[in-house]
Amino acid sequence: METRKIMEDADHYLMPTYSRFPIVLRKGRGVKVWDTNGKEYLDFVGGIAVNVLGHCHPQVVVAIQKQAQRLLHVSNLYHIEPQVRLAKLLVMNSFADKVFFCNSGAEANEAAIKIARKYAHEHFGAECFEIISTFNSFHGRTIATLTATGQTKFQKGFEPLLPGFKHVPFNNIDALRAAVSERTCAVMLEPIQAEGGINLPSEDYLTQVRELCDEKKLLLILDEVQTGMGRTGKLFAYEHYGITPDIMSLAKGLGGGVPIGAMLATDKVAAVFQPRTHASTFGGNPLVCAAAIAAIEALLEDGLVLDQCNRMSRYLLDRLNQLQEEYEGKVVDVRGKGLLIAMELMREGVPYVTACMERGVLIGLAGAGNILRFTPPLIVEERDIDHMIDVLEDVLEKVP
Ligand code: PLP
Repeated sequence: METRKIMEDADHYLMPTYSRFPIVLRKGRGVKVWDTNGKEYLDFVGGIAVNVLGHCHPQVVVAIQKQAQRLLHVSNLYHIEPQVRLAKLLVMNSFADKVFFCNSGAEANEAAIKIARKYAHEHFGAECFEIISTFNSFHGRTIATLTATGQTKFQKGFEPLLPGFKHVPFNNIDALRAAVSERTCAVMLEPIQAEGGINLPSEDYLTQVRELCDEKKLLLILDEVQTGMGRTGKLFAYEHYGITPDIMSLAKGLGGGVPIGAMLATDKVAAVFQPRTHASTFGGNPLVCAAAIAAIEALLEDGLVLDQCNRMSRYLLDRLNQLQEEYEGKVVDVRGKGLLIAMELMREGVPYVTACMERGVLIGLAGAGNILRFTPPLIVEERDIDHMIDVLEDVLEKVP
């Protein structure tokens, strides 16, 4: 189909939940994608932190092909070998003892909210159900996860939201402590707020949150949907901060590009999920689990991808900091961890992102729209970063 026709049909047949850029992407390899006109782009969006291994990683592709020939789907009424293998891999490499599989980040958080409430019901009674989350957080678009999300712009028009959620400022342990009551069952946080603008926790914030949760017998839910799977330079972001959660949600990078989510928990918490308490028809289906196993194995192989991520993180931050010095009238701040990096601008970012796209570089946005978000594949190389920086410099120079 011709490019223009695809875009016309998109307007005609798709609900306009996205304001899409006017290109149609057809092919991807590594850090590059190509559109229907054959134009090449360097992809610093990476499916918004999904494509940790780049596009069409050969091990993931082969795993999908092999599994597709063997078995695509069976019900969770039966044992599914790739699902068990994937759960074991996640458990062996994290704080968790048990895994529940679903299909997206929102569903993983939905499961996290449900298990926290169920745990509190069983241990502390039905009056204990409140979850404290933070302003500027993003946890998903289902009604529960939207309620947990601390940004009114996503909630407008969908009221009434669910009872049982409170929000406090991120990075403020006193506000969190003051918000805890008899009714509180859990604290829910992104270790680094991603959609909200790549907001990093202060050095001791997460340790203090963990201590507070222990003191008040609250569950700590970490939403690692965006920060997980190597994005911040360690497999999970909590590893940077010397703490472990009770519950963690994953999605995005987990499947190497296929839709899968997971909610992980300690045995103590997991015990409250019994047959018929929660379920998902597609959750942990053979095809997506085979892809995710291949993705995690490739991600962890000799630590090479994580090393690359950390090296490229330093390089990208250096280069962006140089740009900030050069364009201090336009760039307010550069920050991030691993390859979850922000460049905050004085102005609305869409014109900059559009100009970069026209020059063959895809960059994302976060926060109030004035933050450029860089979430390239973790296998990105120095020459890719150099090329992106040249383009961005040109754009900062020319776009007012
Ligand atoms: N949690 C976080 C931290 C996210 O960044 C996102 C998506 O951007 C979600 C949850 C929702 O994930 P999904 O879009 O897969 O439902």
